[in-house]
Amino acid sequence: SRGEILLQVNGVSHRYGDFVALQDVNIKIPWGQLTALIGPNGAGKTTFYNVVSGKFRPTSGRIIFKNKDITGYPPHRLFRMGLARSFQITNTFGNLTVLENVMVPIILRNGKGFRIWSSVKKDRYSRDEALGILELVGLEELSRKFVRELSYGDRRLLEIAIVLAGKPDMVLLDEPTAGMTPEETDKTINLIKHLANTTGITFFLTEHDMKVVFSVAEYIYVLHQGRLLAQGKPLEIRENEQVKEAYLGGA
Ligand code: ATP
Repeated sequence: SRGEILLQVNGVSHRYGDFVALQDVNIKIPWGQLTALIGPNGAGKTTFYNVVSGKFRPTSGRIIFKNKDITGYPPHRLFRMGLARSFQITNTFGNLTVLENVMVPIILRNGKGFRIWSSVKKDRYSRDEALGILELVGLEELSRKFVRELSYGDRRLLEIAIVLAGKPDMVLLDEPTAGMTPEETDKTINLIKHLANTTGITFFLTEHDMKVVFSVAEYIYVLHQGRLLAQGKPLEIRENEQVKEAYLGGA
């Protein structure tokens, strides 16, 4: 419930050979708090994202989700526990429609994966649920299109729809507005805020665009050269001298 800690990262470090990409990072995210991780290029955001989502096992430290130590769990196991990451576009099926792509995780979630292709064509229950999700992200009018026919921004929205179809408690979004036009960016920011307010899902995003971060996040962690440089509410981060310096120095 809101207020309790959902995700806790305790003293996590990660090395690539001799290079220290993350050093003693500590993070605590309560249920429902829209949180962002920011930092200049090379700060370690992608490494952190990969460590939390189970792609890499951290060199040291623990990751606790719903009071359970999940350090080293693979992504599919985390997904079943309610921790989802945004998928890359390569995870969509280009020869299925937008609607069918959203049906796939619903069918898998309902344990019908063994007859997934016939379910995609016929399962009315999954179809209705998928349509509801497409409405939520504003893609309902494109439901019959093939993924390859979508614009870049709409494909990114479809990724979010596919993640929602897994009914997660927490969603990690890696630079959700990267590569988008200003209009697509605004639409996506509003969508994330709306989802955070209405679905009970806890969003945790990495982002390099400060405008996006300050307009969407309730709480911000700043990573710099693998260490946490600052944390706080957007206004505090905006006025933090060390943060300003790190960004200017890195530009
Ligand atoms: P960006 O925003 O530019 O993607 P980032 O904050 O996501 O940066 P990371 O990609 O996590 O940063 O990289 C952190 C540091 O670790 C960088 O200095 C990078 O060169 C280094 N690094 C990343 N991956 C590897 C790897 N596989 N082997 C060696 N060094 C790596």
